[in-house]
Amino acid sequence: MTSVPRTAPTDSLGRRLAYLRLSVTPACTFRCVYCLPDGSGSRSSGRPLTVREIGRLLAGFAGIGLGKVRLSGGEATTRSDFAEIIRTAAHTPGIRTVALTTNGYRLERNARIWRQAGLATLNVSVDSLNRETFARIAGVDHLHQVLGGLEAALEAGFERVKINTVLLKTVNDREVGAFLNLARDRPLDVRFIELMRTHDNAAFFERHHLRADTLVRQLEELGWVRQGRAFDDGPARVYTHPDSRGRVGIIAPYSRDFCTACNRVRVTATGELRLCLFGTEGVSLRPYLQEDRQRPLLQHTVLRSLALKPAGHRLASGDSGVTDHLASIGG
Ligand code: SAM
Ligand code: SF4
Repeated sequence: MTSVPRTAPTDSLGRRLAYLRLSVTPACTFRCVYCLPDGSGSRSSGRPLTVREIGRLLAGFAGIGLGKVRLSGGEATTRSDFAEIIRTAAHTPGIRTVALTTNGYRLERNARIWRQAGLATLNVSVDSLNRETFARIAGVDHLHQVLGGLEAALEAGFERVKINTVLLKTVNDREVGAFLNLARDRPLDVRFIELMRTHDNAAFFERHHLRADTLVRQLEELGWVRQGRAFDDGPARVYTHPDSRGRVGIIAPYSRDFCTACNRVRVTATGELRLCLFGTEGVSLRPYLQEDRQRPLLQHTVLRSLALKPAGHRLASGDSGVTDHLASIGG
C-alpha cells in the first residue's frame, strides 16, 4: 500500500492538495437560476453520508495531510444534524480548519451555535444587494435574512466573512460598487466568481456569462492591488485597497492559472471522490467508511486516485464533465 504522507499529498503534476470540499446534501432551499432552477439537487441518487461516515472520511483525509475541510452542498445547513457534523469535523485529529459555504438563510439564528461547535470560517453567497434582483436570481425573497445572517456572523466572532457573488451580465454587473461599499468598513471579503457552464445552465450561461477581466481592469483603475497567494488560498486572486477593510477576490475559472493553482479535492454527498469540479471520473469511498478499521484502505484508495486528478477542465470547449450543476458537488 502507498505510504501515508504526513504533509499534504501532491498529485501527479506536483499540485499540493490541502483542502477537501465535502457536500453533505444535494438538497437546497433556494433555486438559484444558474444552479438549481428547478429547486432540487436530489437527482444525484442515494442517501447522504451519515455523521459517522463523515467522521471516518475526515479522519482518513486528515491522516494523509488534508487538514482543511469546507462543508457545502446543496445547502449544508438544511441537515438537522448540521451542528453535529461541524462538531465531528472540528474534533477530528488533524483537521485544522472547518469552513462552510452557505446561502446564509439559517445563519442569523445559528451563527453562534455553529461557531461554538467549531466552525472556523464562513463563506456566504449573496448575488445581489437589491431585494428584487436577489429574489429573481435565488428564486426566494430572502435577502433580508441573509444580510441579517452576515451581521450575526460578525457578532458571533467570525473575524472575517467571505461573500461569494456570481457575476451575471445584465443582472448584477452594475452592483460591483455596492458590494465594495458593503465591505469598505467591515471585515467582509467579496469574491466575484465567473459563472461556470454546467449541463443544466447552458442557455443561461450563453446570455449571462461575463469574463472577470473587465472587472479586474475596473479594480486596478480604482487603486486595488493584487496580493500574493498563500499556500491554501486556492484559485482566488486577492486584491486589497488602502481605504477598504474588506478585500476582493476574483475567481476566474476560464483563466489560464485557475487549474494550475487548484489545491482541492471534492467528495459528493454520497461519498464519491471527485478530483475536478468538471471531471469525468468519480471513485466511491462509501464502501471504506463502514468501520474504523477500514481507514488504511480508504487512505490507500484516495492516494491512488490522486493520480487521476486531471491537469485542467475543458470548460472552454463547452465540456462540463459529469457535473449537472454545482449543487451536486459543493460548488
Ligand atoms: N448553497 C450554498 C451556497 O449557495 O453558498 C453552497 C453550495 S453552492 C453550489 C456553492 C457556491 O457555488 C455558491 O457561491 C454558488 O453561487 C456557486 N455556484 C453555483 N453554481 C455556479 C455556477 N454555475 N457558476 C459559478 N458559481 C456557481
Ligand atoms: Fe442552492 Fe447554493 Fe445552488 Fe443557490 S447556489 S441553488 S443556494 S446550492
